Amino acid sequence: MNFLRRFLSGYRLPFARFEQEEGMPAASQGGCLNLLLANPRLIIALFVIGGGIFKYYSGTTEYHNDFTGHEQRVARYTPEGEIRLGLASAPEMVRQFGGEVADPKSTALVNRVGQRIVSSTLVRETPYRFQFHLLRDDQTINAFALPGGQIFITAALLKLLKNEDQLAGVLGHEIGHVVGRHSIQQMAKSEFLQSLAEGVGMAISNGRDQSSVQMTEYVSKLINLKYGRNDELEADALGVRFLIECGYDPENMIGVMEILKKVSGGRQPEMLSTHPDPGNRIEHIRAEITKLRAEQK
Ligand SMILES: [Zn+2]
Repeated sequence: MNFLRRFLSGYRLPFARFEQEEGMPAASQGGCLNLLLANPRLIIALFVIGGGIFKYYSGTTEYHNDFTGHEQRVARYTPEGEIRLGLASAPEMVRQFGGEVADPKSTALVNRVGQRIVSSTLVRETPYRFQFHLLRDDQTINAFALPGGQIFITAALLKLLKNEDQLAGVLGHEIGHVVGRHSIQQMAKSEFLQSLAEGVGMAISNGRDQSSVQMTEYVSKLINLKYGRNDELEADALGVRFLIECGYDPENMIGVMEILKKVSGGRQPEMLSTHPDPGNRIEHIRAEITKLRAEQK
């Protein structure tokens, strides 16, 4: 019953209150049976829900994330599979944002800050292979992470950042999504995304042309992927932790949020794309800074 409870609570279905009926007297249970028999559509609905639960659990695997300390249900990908998927999708991501910036100074900055986070924190002990890309697009203010460690920031966002610490805040947040395995967790919840990823995975293993329609669709889907509310809070908290561990000023994570809030007129940048928006992300970041600083003393 535990798995059912977790599934129902995870999805906040109104059926969650069914579990309260476990200890009901026999007479009431008979009443439930009569209700079911009188409503064949209810039986069909229960089968559909049951089938959905079966599919979700048979197509995914439960996993303890040592990094975040949480149990999570993720699509059946090993970290190596995630790395392959990310590496195969990276060229399409670069293509959709006008290529990579040629200027060696700014690409070196992004790479240096990103690698500093990886090498100075526990991220270095994960199996992921991190690569940092500066995308040429100077209109779209955004940053992304693909599974396995491919991290991207657009020239438009880099231009707005006031210092290296803020850049570390953006990259730290995206690294947080990778080690939190948030995108494959979302894949496990979205059948469509999972089937696209499987198609892409097959294309990789068959050595087929990776610029297939499926790849384009997969990357577009990932660009617009909305992580869960808790995923964003977790990525923020990990970002703050990385900043502190690397000797950057964690207050700059708040600076990043304020910059993004000010400019997000059109499409929301990934870092603000929480749905539903907790509205108090900055407060959560402040609380995390206070907590981590107290632990350091
Ligand atoms: Zn995010």
